This record gives sequence, C-alpha cells and structure tokens, in this order.
Amino acid sequence: MKIIKTTKELIEAVNEVKKTKTIGLVPTMGALHGGHLSLIKKSVNDNDFTIVSDFVNPTQFGPNEDYERYPRTLEEDAKLCKDAGCDILFAPSPDEMYSNMKDTTLVCPSYNDVSKLCGKSRPGHFDGVATIVSKLFNLAKPNRAYFGQKDAQQLFIIKKMVRDLNFDIEIIGCPIVRESDGLALSSRNRYLNEENRKRALKLSKALFTIKDLYKNGVNSAETLIDTALTILDGEDIDYFEILDLSNFEKIDIINKDCIALCAVRFPQKDGTIRLIDNMVL
Ligand code: AMP
Repeated sequence: MKIIKTTKELIEAVNEVKKTKTIGLVPTMGALHGGHLSLIKKSVNDNDFTIVSDFVNPTQFGPNEDYERYPRTLEEDAKLCKDAGCDILFAPSPDEMYSNMKDTTLVCPSYNDVSKLCGKSRPGHFDGVATIVSKLFNLAKPNRAYFGQKDAQQLFIIKKMVRDLNFDIEIIGCPIVRESDGLALSSRNRYLNEENRKRALKLSKALFTIKDLYKNGVNSAETLIDTALTILDGEDIDYFEILDLSNFEKIDIINKDCIALCAVRFPQKDGTIRLIDNMVL
C-alpha cells in the first residue's frame, strides 16, 4: 500500500491505474474503526484497486465544532488500511486540498436537503461535504464510491449530487456497523466518558424499540416518535424524525419505506459530543 500526500502524485497514480483497473474510493476522516473497515473491505471485494482518503475536512466543520479536537490517528489508520487490502491511502494536509479555504469554490446541495436534520444544526456542513467529495471524485476518478448508511442524510445528498451533476460514479451505501450492545460505531465514541457511554445506548434503544412497534403494526409517525422521545427523556435531543426514505420528506402515516433518524448531544467537561444514528423501518 502506498501512502500519498499530494494531489499531483494521486493524479499521476490514478491515471496509470485507470488504464486497466476499476477503482473503488472510500472517503473517510480517519480514526478508522470497524464501520470504515466494512466499507474498505467491500470496495476491495468489488474493485481491482481501492483508494481510501483520510482527511479531516475543515470546510465541513462550523466555527464552534470539534475540528481541532477531532481524532487524528494516521499511523494506526495506515496499518488497518493495509491489512484490509487498500492500495492507496490518500492523506493530504488542509493546505494541499485548499489553496485558499476562505475563497474556495463550493458545491452546495439544494436548500431543501440541507435545511433539515444535521444540516439545520450544522449550517454549511453539507456544502463542505459535497465540496470535498466532489474534489475526491475528480482526483481518484473512481468507478464506485462507498458511504455508510450511518450518515444517512449525507448518503442521500451524495447520491443526489451524483445524479444532478452527472458524475459517472456508482454510489454504494453500506449498512451501519454497531457495537455488540447496539451503539453505532463512530470515531467520536472514544471521547465519551463512562456515564455518557451508557447513556448513548438510548439512541439505538429508541430506534430498535420503534422498529419493533412498527413491525407489530403501529404506523403513526407521531406515536413512534413519542415512544422514542420517552426513551431519550432527559437527554439533549437535537432531532428525532421519521422521514420517507425515498425523498427525506416528512410522513405522518407510514405506508412505504421510511427512516427514523436522531441526533443527541452529550455535554462533557472537555466539550460536547454529538452522536447520530438511524434505522430504516
Ligand atoms: P467519517 O470518517 O466519520 O467521515 O466516515 C467515513 C465513512 O464511514 C462515511 O461514509 C460514514 O458513513 C462511514 N461510517 C462511519 N461510521 C460507520 C458505521 N458505524 N457503520 C458503517 N459506516 C460507517
């Protein structure tokens, strides 16, 4: 496996590989865990050549968010990527990716898509995501790109961006990998103190509970959301919503594929940790 830190070297390598091989891209912000590895392994399985990007993208963090504190573990990431069969680990610096961050061209998803859920509480977040993903698509020229269902709104927005901007890339959504007790794996979990690690279980508990209720015939979104909010009582809930999976619009009576999504903040002495989770009903 080669570790590449400049866009020039990546373009040169990709132009050579592209002549004979299919390329899979797995965009990440590093601090890799089993969720990331499931994407990498799927790409290795589906493609001749896999590129993993490892870049904490500054343009998707708001001014009061955890950009500085976000974990950076490149050495461990490189070992995990190599063992998983990755061919290139692309780990550029912010200056390498953005020559002038404050004055850069942005890719902005539609207002309707960014004005809800995570986009509502993190203004500008999805502009940063769509921009860095577009840049990575142009650099890595993948046939397929792999994203986790864990970031469901991101996956929805990227799929739509690929359609709207005519990227010739297949977007593969991959299932959420969880701890044995239900907590969705996340790079931010390592910062949870013992008490909040326990409380964080309420997210998956709320989702599993309403999925069971739905399976047993409860199809009112309001009733399901009320049940979830009771389980999450006492927590700093950013949102808990049930949306139509096909368009991410609100739905009252569930009569087609839907998704329940939540975000909860856990304040700690050393800064607030915001966790997200979701489940297709
Ligand atoms: P991140 O490094 O958090 O930006 O995540 C990089 C990719 O890994 C995104 O497509 C995420 O959706 C995906 N991912 C993160 N956590 C998980 C998980 N627990 N299960 C599956 N995919 C995940």
